[in-house]
Amino acid sequence: MSTAIVLFTRDLRVHDHAALTAATTQYEQVIPLFVLDEELLRAASTPNRVSFLLGSLRALRASLRELGGDLVVRRGDPVDEALRVAHATGAGSIVVGDDASAYAQRRLRRLERACERERICLRVEDTVAAAPLGEPVPAERDHYRRFTPYWRRWRETPLPALVDAPARVVLPPGLDVGALPHESGTSRPPSPRLRGGESAGRSRLERWLRDGVHGYDEARSLLAADGTSRLSPYLHFGCVSAREAVERARARGPAAAEFVRQLCWRDFFLQLLRANPATASADLRHRDVVWCEDDEAFARWETGRTGVPIVDAAMRQLRREGWLHNRGRLIVASFLTRTLGLDWRLGAEVFLELLVDGDVASNAGNWQWVAGTGADSRPNRAFNPLRQAKRFDPGGAYVRRHVPELGDVGDAFVHEPWRAPKAYRPDGYPAPLVDPVHGPRRGGRRKGRRAARA
Ligand code: FAD
Repeated sequence: MSTAIVLFTRDLRVHDHAALTAATTQYEQVIPLFVLDEELLRAASTPNRVSFLLGSLRALRASLRELGGDLVVRRGDPVDEALRVAHATGAGSIVVGDDASAYAQRRLRRLERACERERICLRVEDTVAAAPLGEPVPAERDHYRRFTPYWRRWRETPLPALVDAPARVVLPPGLDVGALPHESGTSRPPSPRLRGGESAGRSRLERWLRDGVHGYDEARSLLAADGTSRLSPYLHFGCVSAREAVERARARGPAAAEFVRQLCWRDFFLQLLRANPATASADLRHRDVVWCEDDEAFARWETGRTGVPIVDAAMRQLRREGWLHNRGRLIVASFLTRTLGLDWRLGAEVFLELLVDGDVASNAGNWQWVAGTGADSRPNRAFNPLRQAKRFDPGGAYVRRHVPELGDVGDAFVHEPWRAPKAYRPDGYPAPLVDPVHGPRRGGRRKGRRAARA
């Protein structure tokens, strides 16, 4: 009997899964395989993401069981384990989704070499981005470096057709399917608002396109409103196909245009990282800046105790929920890099540790965009945190929700409690660490005491 392995990575769904559908239409037996990669689990202490991943794997296993199959789970190195399963079952093919990071590209190259050596057929499908990964390609270079030209081409280029979920998955008999761990192995609780898995993701997409997307333009930047889709973790783990999200949003017409444009940013950063994998931690563009080192400032930023309410509210939301509104991400990233003059890598690391949607491409791409070292960078782009606060949290509801010390401060001072008459200043809330607008070094280019760690 012909047998193929579908190696799942971060495409944890059965709908619009090009690799799974290709395998089930061409092979009599299919082994859906997920390898819990020790290197990834060990490398990052990311309890929110690990918990979401495990929930998504459980859901994937349930879906595959409904189709007559199962999810085969192994622990270890994905290439070694895929080969081991191929040997044990006589599978002649492995089908896997393409991906952008240096780690994923290395994994694919190793898999290619191993399959060539073992005479196993390897097929690579697109399962991660909406457009085929790395496309569209500009006329004179291998990838786009600016969003707007990418967006213009991307929106004019038809996406490959969506594929149906398979009707049936037939596993080889007698295969040990392996167990999924129950706990993430960490004590920090994951975001309470987000449950991993394809059906949770599909219901969220459904609800969002029905009830939420039409108000997106007005509500998406308001910090206190729940005006965005919160689909990012489902997209990161592929519980929802980015291509399907785009196509279904497009079917809603102009009301969903801005939402589709945001999904294009995701593809844009994926193609950027794929072409420049080192930019997960290296500057895409050189910027003439020496980052400061200031452990105390960094610790106060990280724990939401800078004394600037909008920054502290956002960092506390991130810490508590494992998720943060895009506007909050912009404000805290700008505060770290532009106001405090600290290296974007320090902030990106904290985000990757805490975010349930932590994604190397979108995270590094956005941090560099803010820090002025990335695509579409402007050396002088900085967000004035006070202006941002007054515009995007006008009544202070967001700040009061996340910074209880400011619960009784009136609207006039909630974003600037240091300006309140002494008798009304909140107890236990710190004075601002720096001038929130100009930072520690007024004007000019920031010169640090020492260069930051790269
Ligand atoms: P919505 O507003 O509903 O947008 C829909 C989808 O579009 C998102 O789920 C996401 O997939 C995509 N999207 C929206 N904005 C962006 C953007 N600026 N860049 C790339 N894709 C976007 N997003 C991540 O998924 N993972 C990250 O690690 C990440 N790190 C970020 C770090 C910084 C400093 C900043 C400024 C942004 C970061 N983003 C990241 C992008 C963005 O903030 C989140 O995708 C968004 O807030 C997720 O919420 P949502 O799903 O409700 O978004």
